[in-house]
Amino acid sequence: MEDTKKAHKAHVLVLPYPAQGHINPMLQFSKRLSSKGIKPTLSPTIYISKSMQTTTIPTHYGPPIQIRPISDGYDDGGYNQAESTAVYLDSLRTNGSVSLAHLIKKLHEEGDSVKAIIYDGFLPWALDVAKQFGLVGVVFFTQACTVNSIYYHVQRGLIQLPLSGHDSTKVSVPGAPELHPWEAPSFVHSYGSYPFWFDVVLGQFSNIDQADWVLCNIFYDMEKEVVDWMAKMWKIRTIGPTVPSYYLENRLEDNKDYGLQLVKPNTTICKNWLDSKPRDSVIYIAFGSAAKLSEQQFEELGRGLINSHHNFLWVVRDSEQAKLPKGFLDEILSGQGLVVEWASQLEVLAHEAIGCFVTHCGFNSVLEALSLGVPVVGIPQWTDQGTNAKFLEDVWGVGIRAKVDDDGIVREKQFEKCIREVMEGERREEITKNVVKWKKLAKEAVDEGGSSDKNIDEFVAFLGGC
Ligand code: UDP
Repeated sequence: MEDTKKAHKAHVLVLPYPAQGHINPMLQFSKRLSSKGIKPTLSPTIYISKSMQTTTIPTHYGPPIQIRPISDGYDDGGYNQAESTAVYLDSLRTNGSVSLAHLIKKLHEEGDSVKAIIYDGFLPWALDVAKQFGLVGVVFFTQACTVNSIYYHVQRGLIQLPLSGHDSTKVSVPGAPELHPWEAPSFVHSYGSYPFWFDVVLGQFSNIDQADWVLCNIFYDMEKEVVDWMAKMWKIRTIGPTVPSYYLENRLEDNKDYGLQLVKPNTTICKNWLDSKPRDSVIYIAFGSAAKLSEQQFEELGRGLINSHHNFLWVVRDSEQAKLPKGFLDEILSGQGLVVEWASQLEVLAHEAIGCFVTHCGFNSVLEALSLGVPVVGIPQWTDQGTNAKFLEDVWGVGIRAKVDDDGIVREKQFEKCIREVMEGERREEITKNVVKWKKLAKEAVDEGGSSDKNIDEFVAFLGGC
């Protein structure tokens, strides 16, 4: 026991916000740390930890990842059990702080003290707890740096809200292209929508000046100038993409998935179906773990898919299935389409049958599309997704954003046009060239001596030395 404890360079607590899109990157980053001799302990909420059904995630390349959960005050049902978002976030902060402090003390008593807390930017109170115990405080951003820079500017009063309603209004931060209002994060362009989430994204900057390190889940080439600008203020390092190693440089043995699925994926059904389809022939369409589409939007997408005459694999979560157009599932029985409740997204994106990815542009999906080299059609819904779509189209050039009408709906014809453009149109050649370029850059970033790899080495050396 004693030997195991001494075998690692440092022990760190990793604290994700309790949602699939936030746990995936921090769990994957924990694996990277383990591969470099750091012992990570992951602290999801008790409710989330129940679906993990393990207390240890073994790694072949370094110290195993222990799971030591904390309480958000809703141990039996998590977020869904709370009366409202506001109540949940408040409970997470108050119960989470107490529970985290308790865990730190307990680990100390067990002779397994932690040196640092790596916490999701959505949980700035974790920095207060870290400082209370004299620990290194490391904030981990799960969203793009431009998005974060915009929130920083709003939080410091450098961008005034509401934005002026004038057509020529632009949102501008150093190092990033000027954004039309609709390309800015939704909490910024639709000021007053989701006030509690607005507080959360701005709260990331409430105490950032006290953080010892700022880690960003991007790789440097993605947003060079924005990172350089932020680096003037904080010790910021890019460490991404946190996509399982198998799909990148493949240095972490047996690292093919993130290791946590809150919903069981229909892996075999998807694989068998994809195996039966020709190369580059399938549209994969998925909107992540949280987005809710209107019935009208489902109707337009469903018609567009059928009329495109391309094959498609559509993830429609259980809670969304009732919104599928009437008779839709019968119509696709001939084999043109497959609808599943949840997929192994990485396996799907890596399959040679996939020709394009219709995505809500959640940031993990963005990183996965870039890393696995899949052209995209962006249909952003809210939060940072509109900004991500802008970068996918105009900065990285790996796809296009579908336009919405005055009611905020992507209509069938527009959708079909986008699909055709990416699957078979004139732009496919240019997009494919860019896709190949970004896939290579993503791999290089995490490979030995790459920008993210060097940054992780620097971080690990710091932890080992302090
Ligand atoms: N995902 C998955 N299967 C699905 C849909 C999504 O495994 O059918 C994964 C996807 O690979 C990504 C995460 O869920 O890692 C979703 O994160 P993202 O940031 O894209 O969206 P969010 O769910 O946060 O809106």
